[in-house]
Amino acid sequence: MKFHANPRSGPPTVTFLGAAQSVSGSMHLLEAGPYRFLLDCGLHRGPREEARQRNSTFPFDPATIDAVFLSHAHVDHCGNLPNLVRQGFTGPIYCTPATRDLIAVMLEDSARIQEDEAETSRIASNHGGRPATRALYKRSDVHDTIDHCVGVEYDKPVAVNPNVQIRFIDAGHILGSAIVAITLTHAGREYRITFSGDLGRRGLPYLREPSAVPAADLIICESTYGGKTHDTLAGMSAKMADVVKRTAARGGKILIPAFSLGRTQLVLHYLREWMASGLLPRLPLYVDSPLAHGIAIVHEEYSEFLTPQVEEIPFEWLVSADDAWYRTTQSGSCIIVASGGMCEGGRIIQHLKHHIDDPRSTVVLVSYQAPNSLGSQLLLPLPTVRFHGRTWNKWIEVAQINGFSGHADQDDFDALLRGAAQDTRRVRLVHGEPPQMLALAGQLRGMGFADVGVPTREEVVTL
Ligand SMILES: [Zn+2]
Repeated sequence: MKFHANPRSGPPTVTFLGAAQSVSGSMHLLEAGPYRFLLDCGLHRGPREEARQRNSTFPFDPATIDAVFLSHAHVDHCGNLPNLVRQGFTGPIYCTPATRDLIAVMLEDSARIQEDEAETSRIASNHGGRPATRALYKRSDVHDTIDHCVGVEYDKPVAVNPNVQIRFIDAGHILGSAIVAITLTHAGREYRITFSGDLGRRGLPYLREPSAVPAADLIICESTYGGKTHDTLAGMSAKMADVVKRTAARGGKILIPAFSLGRTQLVLHYLREWMASGLLPRLPLYVDSPLAHGIAIVHEEYSEFLTPQVEEIPFEWLVSADDAWYRTTQSGSCIIVASGGMCEGGRIIQHLKHHIDDPRSTVVLVSYQAPNSLGSQLLLPLPTVRFHGRTWNKWIEVAQINGFSGHADQDDFDALLRGAAQDTRRVRLVHGEPPQMLALAGQLRGMGFADVGVPTREEVVTL
């Protein structure tokens, strides 16, 4: 299906092309007269062939897109931008300055993974396997992409052209994350569109608090944790203290798998703060994530957006695999935060292999665990677990603390959206699994929003 770029006299439309009744591949097409804009351009994840098909082919000609408005640097929101550029997009990518610097790190890592996978596929095909698949994009495409980025400060309206203005508002989800407020004039009428991106949670003072979502003719709103309530900060610290103290008393290791952008910085910040305040014992603290190391440098550059760090509690980056091996096999308790939030890959795997059958140690899950992920398997009350091609005795303790989420819960949605209810014509929910979307849709109707919908992929809403 291709969407046409003909100048149209009808009212503006938005077509939902990704993250529709799912949490993957955020991408929406806004068309108004001769203009076409993309809200996010994320990488879709799913079964291998389906993901490959969805990511490699755009349902429009990239050359016809005038500009991209990017909400934040998570790969499910920005990860297909290099492919868009590679396939002919030549316009500006508007984002906050921190997002621009973060996507340089994130997309470089994404390109490296894809180049590695393409090389593995090439070797396999040489040995009689399936035909080799090409990398979706390469590191050189990432460099071209960054050249298209235009950094826009929060709360500074920018004229994209004489008829279209955008403003980024702090979404409090990760460093640089933004709600995108768009005002466009078309056929003598003004239209307002608000794209929430991912909304952060309140009461977790590391990032700034998420801002209220502005009223609009159309609000496109995420719904990841619709119908859920997160642990409070006090609840999180109490749970973490229990886990760390009893594991340390046994002489075990505390393993914390965490996504590299957002969760790792948040977990590290609070572990250090709680150690400084005496809530947690001052154990050696290690971070095993090369990607998070690159991300940390960007965080230092934008420290004015972050709560000051507790410098008195040191931690060590485990830069090489040898460093990680040395620290994980050393005797005594320590805390290791390692990449791979759902334990599906990343540096956490090596630590798990070493400690999965050690009843003194604990793995603390602080991220969303997708069904069938290794993280969700670990949570099952079974004596064994399968990963890395074999079955392992699961004698390690498994704990879960859900409050480290970077996403709004139902109380946050209430606080961030209530003020927009009376002056908003319609809301369309994206970026959530159907049960969460339906829960949030019911909540928003109860708050007075007149028209709340849950679009399917390629559904079009006319303003
Ligand atoms: Zn996000």
